[in-house]
This record gives sequence, structure tokens and C-alpha cells, in this order.
Amino acid sequence: MLKIEKSSEIKRENGVLMSKCTANVPGSPMSVYSFNVDGILIDTGSSSLLEEFKAYFSEADFDAIYITHFHEDHIGNVAYLQNQRDVPAFIHSSSTSFTPKPFRIPTYRQIVWGESAPFSSTALDETFTSRNHTWEVIETPGHTKDHVTFYNRDLGAMFTGDLFVSPKVKVVLTEENILDTRRSLQKIEAYDFEDMYCCHAGYVKNAKEWIRLKIEYIDELEGKVLTLSKQGKDIYEITAELFPKPYPIIAVSNTEWSPVHMVRTILNRG
Ligand SMILES: [Zn+2]
Repeated sequence: MLKIEKSSEIKRENGVLMSKCTANVPGSPMSVYSFNVDGILIDTGSSSLLEEFKAYFSEADFDAIYITHFHEDHIGNVAYLQNQRDVPAFIHSSSTSFTPKPFRIPTYRQIVWGESAPFSSTALDETFTSRNHTWEVIETPGHTKDHVTFYNRDLGAMFTGDLFVSPKVKVVLTEENILDTRRSLQKIEAYDFEDMYCCHAGYVKNAKEWIRLKIEYIDELEGKVLTLSKQGKDIYEITAELFPKPYPIIAVSNTEWSPVHMVRTILNRG
């Protein structure tokens, strides 16, 4: 049986309380963040890390939960929190019908993140208000179709869920559309902000420089894929040439995570 060590930390940046909890999977530690600001909680981490998140949940001051997308490492503790206190949870309108039902995920994801108990949710509007601020809900599909980013102009901050994660992404989920991800990054780039709060990278200063790096990385990848395709190479030859490293997650996830999903998206549109 795989033994996973777990750890947690609580930090505060520019008035945002956050907790980073980690499942130390041997060879690839997996961390996830939850954020608390102005009476709202943004994403809730995974149920596998509930014990690690508890001290933060007690310290956090909130009366509503806002969710960036329907993945188990973001919705994992909504049911627990709604049992503790009467708080609404807001999510993209396309996901509200899924939240009250059991959510099935592959075994490796159950081991790392755990199952998410059903919970009640309300559809997000284009804007919402917290105690002192007005927020904009920006549709940022790519990682998932229901993905949104929460923008707070007063704080100059974007809460980007899994839109960013890392500038040079090597593997993505089957359902991710890397070209939509790029369009969403370009969309948020046009807003006025400096800070980004990413659910896996945490607090990111000079956010626009990092976002630009990721857009340029995807541009470059697109160029390379299309060039190799013109030379007559197929999707697997292109993937093997551009991503020769056998990232363990590819085998562990039975290719649910793989660079091939980025190559396929580019070939299908390009
Ligand atoms: Zn996700």
C-alpha cells in the first residue's frame, strides 16, 4: 500500500489568508491551495487533505464558497464545510447539476486527492459582491470547460484556479484544450492586476510576466507541432520528439495526463 506523507502550511499575502497542503507522493509531491479573503473562501482543497486543511478552515472567516472548477482538489471539502456551517457554494452554471451527485474519478486520483462528497451549489453570475469588494467572474475555459477566474480590481488580484499552474506545462488532462487555455490567458492578460493566486503555484507576484511566458510557450509549442506535422510525422511521433521524458504521471494515470493531449488539440485545429 502506497504510504503518502502529508503536510500543511498557512500563509498570508496582501490580506489574503491561504493554506497550502501537500500529499507527498514519492517522486512528485502534489500541493493544493485554498484562499480566504474578504469573507469568501476560494476553492477548498481535496478531501484527502481535510485533516491538513482543518486548522486553516477554523482560522478562515467566510460566509460563502466560490469554486473555480469542478475538480476533486478544488471541491473536495465543500460538503464538510457545509456540514459545519450554513454556507452557499457558487460554481459555473454548467456544473451545478453535478455537485449533488457522487463524482466518480479514476483510482490514482482517489488515492492522491480522495473522493468528493456531494454538495449543494448555486450558479455563478457575471459579478458578485463580498463584504467590501465587487468581483468579476471571468470565463476561462481550457483546463476544463467550466473553469472561471475571480478578479478583484480593488486588490489588483486574479484568483486563477488551474488556469496557470506552471509556465512550461508538459502534461495535461485529456479534457484540457491547450488552445482554449491560451485564449483564456490572453483574456485575463488584458485586465489590470499584479497578483495571481494559483491553486497549485500559490501566490505569484508580477503575474503578467508569468502569464506571458506561458502564452509564448504555447505559441512555440504550436509552431513546433505544426512544423513536424508538415514533415509528415504523426501525433505519436511528434509527441515522442517534443516530449521524450517519461513523466511518471503518464503511466500512473494510464495517459489521462499526457503531452499527447496538447499535440492532439493543436493538430485538430492547426
Ligand atoms: Zn483542475
